Amino acid sequence: LDQAQDGTEFLAPLVELAARHEPAVADIDIPVRLSDSVTLSTMHGCPPGEIGKICRYLLEERGLHTFVKCNPTLLGPERVRGILHDDLGYRDVVVPDEAFGHDLEYADAVPLLQGLRKTAEDCGLEFGVKLTNTLEVENTRTVFGPAEKMMYLSGRPLHAISVNLASELAKTFEGRLPMSFCAGVDCFNAPAMLAAGMQTVTSCTDLLKTGGYLRMLQYLENTRAAMGAAPDIEAFIAESAGTAFGDRAASARINLARYAAETREDRLLRKQTFHTSSSKTARELGLFDCIEAPCTDGCAVDQDVPQYMQAVRQGDFARAVEITQKDNPVPAMLGRVCDHLCEPVCVRTHLDEPLAIRHIKRFIMEREKRPAAGSEPNGPKVAVIGAGPGGIAAAYELATAGFRVEIFEQHPYAGGMVGGAIPTYRLPVGVVEQDLARIEALGVKIHYDRAAGRDFRLPDLRREGFDSVAVLVGAQLGKKLGLEGEDAEGVMDALHFLRRARERRPVATGKRIGIIGAGDTAMDCARTAWRLSGGEARVSVIYRRTIDQMPADREEVACLLEEGIEVVEMAKPQELRITDGRLEGLVCRRMEYCGDRDASGRKVPHEIPDSDFEVPLDTLILAISQHAVLDFFDGEAVTLNDWGYIAADPVTFETSVPGVYAGGDVVN
Ligand code: SF4
Repeated sequence: LDQAQDGTEFLAPLVELAARHEPAVADIDIPVRLSDSVTLSTMHGCPPGEIGKICRYLLEERGLHTFVKCNPTLLGPERVRGILHDDLGYRDVVVPDEAFGHDLEYADAVPLLQGLRKTAEDCGLEFGVKLTNTLEVENTRTVFGPAEKMMYLSGRPLHAISVNLASELAKTFEGRLPMSFCAGVDCFNAPAMLAAGMQTVTSCTDLLKTGGYLRMLQYLENTRAAMGAAPDIEAFIAESAGTAFGDRAASARINLARYAAETREDRLLRKQTFHTSSSKTARELGLFDCIEAPCTDGCAVDQDVPQYMQAVRQGDFARAVEITQKDNPVPAMLGRVCDHLCEPVCVRTHLDEPLAIRHIKRFIMEREKRPAAGSEPNGPKVAVIGAGPGGIAAAYELATAGFRVEIFEQHPYAGGMVGGAIPTYRLPVGVVEQDLARIEALGVKIHYDRAAGRDFRLPDLRREGFDSVAVLVGAQLGKKLGLEGEDAEGVMDALHFLRRARERRPVATGKRIGIIGAGDTAMDCARTAWRLSGGEARVSVIYRRTIDQMPADREEVACLLEEGIEVVEMAKPQELRITDGRLEGLVCRRMEYCGDRDASGRKVPHEIPDSDFEVPLDTLILAISQHAVLDFFDGEAVTLNDWGYIAADPVTFETSVPGVYAGGDVVN
């Protein structure tokens, strides 16, 4: 502190050094006082008495304008948890009571801050607060070691909490408590923070993201745009509040209160909006890392996303299609229903939202010119079993390499589970055919209504002269719950239900429909059932965890909720109520989280004793996963993995049966 107030002893040798190169430096009047203000950054758990003492020392003995950094816990457990869990959906983040217990409470903070303001006034100085520190939460991730009980929350959720704390303080102090702000500030909210009267708005981790210090330009651009015709910040504050220029404190308070309410509903601050679970890449950091786009890493087919996006940007859609097709054998299908793992890792999330990579693929594929008939391959014969995306992809690669490929498909149409079960509102009729056209142009033959195990077996293919066989049959047999009565009328497997709906001969469901599961298939079942009933049926998705833990695509979950479909959370199926061979209802047991987590950090649900309740149902659809059906090997013992799927070499895809290869869901 001494040196910060009088840096002569440090400055002199530096000036002398500089003057050796540029003598005029010696004549520059450089202030020896580094700063006349200081911010006290207190640690979590710092006793209030000590905070007061240090601040008084800085004011009275050091003569420094003083700001003290507050913890977000000041807002109190109810408000903090309400914003975090209820408003923004970060239900898996646990703020333990002890985080509040050892920090300053609001009721104690107010007299402390009032006293310090008075001290500052007496000294002719300014006193204020800086908002905020990070929020202490339970350590559930693997970043810190398991010995660490706590980790520290920042970013989007902290922003909403701290803005609401600022608004509360502004109310209590009638806008007269000077504040500076740093929690989750970015170029989009910086103008709002300035309009809210923050004396300084500071940004730190945001500048560590893509773009670095260049990101600051956008802070200025956005602030300038938000200010409109306002000549300065003071006018901006008044104009934003719609009040007369003059009472800065009142105007800033209005802006702050309005923005605080907005943050609690801001889609961009909500957990559900972003999939951050895979926002890191395992790829080794290279010297020129930026050249390898993370979207390509995230994509299962290593799609060259930047290249096709660039072509789209230039308006060259034909070229974009060409680039896409180079890596991707089924781009029309994937443009519609890919789980788009490229998007959560998109660096654009460091600014606002990921680029719509999948939607843009769909856009360009809708403009694809269909291929003309192509080559006549003359290489060895390969049989591909299954005309789903995996089978089509394998056929494409093989045909391109010169093999003569024939596909055997059990249904009268192609597409596998994708083409047969994904509802038409997500995958319209004709999209599968678009991808098929490419392989047909390469000379691939498709035999429909030829089911492996029913119409032919492995030895038959060998007799027909196929040198190799690629098994890409997917996993088609729905898993059961293991409850008594699952063969009763009204209980069915998700794939059966979806396939019948897609074939336009839907099964009768009645008006009370339950779906067990939380993946994309469960979402498809629920939304299809709701549509088939014309919005009349009561459709309930029954899940043993909470909505935020659902593995389904965020977009699908959001659509489900938007359509008014009910999710019965924390409910575990116990018993099927069957009368005269017909389903009447499902008895479930309530679950609860008790604070323990599994190895991946997910909360473990536990049964609550004596909590059974019944969901009355006409139909129950099981969407809990599928088994592979492997009845066509005809005695040739294929080795299975621990989960009952075919064991295949991860590089060559060859199975334990020579000449037989397998991929996709059948190897899981
Ligand atoms: S949408 Fe799917 S296929 Fe396309 S780039 Fe993303 S992950 Fe890859």
